[in-house]
Amino acid sequence: EKYEKSLKKTSKSFGARFNEFLANFRSVDEEFFEDLEDTLIMSDVGVDVATQLTDDLRREVKLQKAKSQDDVKRVIIEKMVDNFGESGLDTSLNLQENLTVMMFVGVNGVGKTTTIGKLANRFRNEGKKVLLAAADTFRAGATDQLVEWAHRSDVEIVVGKEKSDPASVVFDAVKKAKTESYDILLIDTAGRLQNKENLMKELEKMGKIIKREIPDAPHETLLALDATTGQNAISQAKEFSNVTPLTGIVLTKLDGSAKGGIILTIQQILQIPVKLVGLGEGINDLETFNEELFVKGLFQ
Ligand code: GDP
Repeated sequence: EKYEKSLKKTSKSFGARFNEFLANFRSVDEEFFEDLEDTLIMSDVGVDVATQLTDDLRREVKLQKAKSQDDVKRVIIEKMVDNFGESGLDTSLNLQENLTVMMFVGVNGVGKTTTIGKLANRFRNEGKKVLLAAADTFRAGATDQLVEWAHRSDVEIVVGKEKSDPASVVFDAVKKAKTESYDILLIDTAGRLQNKENLMKELEKMGKIIKREIPDAPHETLLALDATTGQNAISQAKEFSNVTPLTGIVLTKLDGSAKGGIILTIQQILQIPVKLVGLGEGINDLETFNEELFVKGLFQ
C-alpha cells in the first residue's frame, strides 16, 4: 500500500497520462497505437523501447481480440509486466549467508548516501550486524553525512581522513567486517565521473582489496541513478558500466519523478536490473523493486 502511495506522483504523471489516454479510448485502430507510442515517449520510456512495446502491444491486442477499454488496459498491463519478466534480469539482492559486501557508485547528488542510510536501517531492523564504510573521502561533508545515517540506524561506521586514500578506508572496513563477523558491509564511494580514469583506478583498487579478503566480493555493485534526470540517467549508466561492472541499479527520487517510464527503459537498454527504488527522503522510503507492483501502481 505504501508502495502505491509513494508512487502516486509517478502514477499521476506516467499513469495519469495513460489513464487519460485510455479514457479517450474510442476504438483499437492504427491511430490508437500511434497515440500510445507518443504517450510512452512523453513518459520518458525512450523511443526504441516505446516502439518495441507498441509493436508488442499491437500484436497482443490482436491476438487476444481485445476491443473494450478494460480489455485493452489489461493487455497493456500484462505486456508491460511480461516485458520486465522477459528481460530475465534478477532484481533481488545477492545476499550471502555470511558477509555480504555492497559497493555504491554514482555521481554526486543522486542519493547514494541516503540509500545506504536507508538500507543500513532496513538490515539492522532485520537483526543483521551492519557496517558502513565512508570511502567517499573526496567530497567534503560526505563522511559526516554517512556518520549521521550510521547514528540514526545505530550501526558502526569506518571513516578515513578527508582526502585520504579511499582504498585504505575499504581495507580497514573489510578487515573489521571479517574479523568481527558482520553480516553486511555497505561501501560509499566518490562519484567523480568527470575524471573517469581516476575513478576507474580507484574502483579497481577497492575491488582488489576487497577480493583479497573475500574472493567472491563485492556481491553487489549498485549504481544510484536519479529518476528525475530522465534520459540523462541512461547516459550516466552507460558511462559507469564502462568504468566498472555493475550488478544492479538503485533508482532514486521516483517519488518526485514525473517520468517514471525511465524504469522500463533502463532494464531493457542496459540489461542491468533495477533492484531498489527510492521513494522519498525518509529512512523508510526505500523499496525492493517489484515489476508487477510497479506497473500496477502506475495505473492506480
Ligand atoms: P549522494 O551525493 O549521491 O550521496 O546523494 P545524497 O544521498 O546526499 O542525496 C542527495 C539529495 O537527494 C538529498 O537531499 C536527499 O535527501 C535526496 N534524496 C535521496 N534519495 C531520495 C529519494 O528517493 N527521494 C527524494 N525525494 N529525495 C531523495
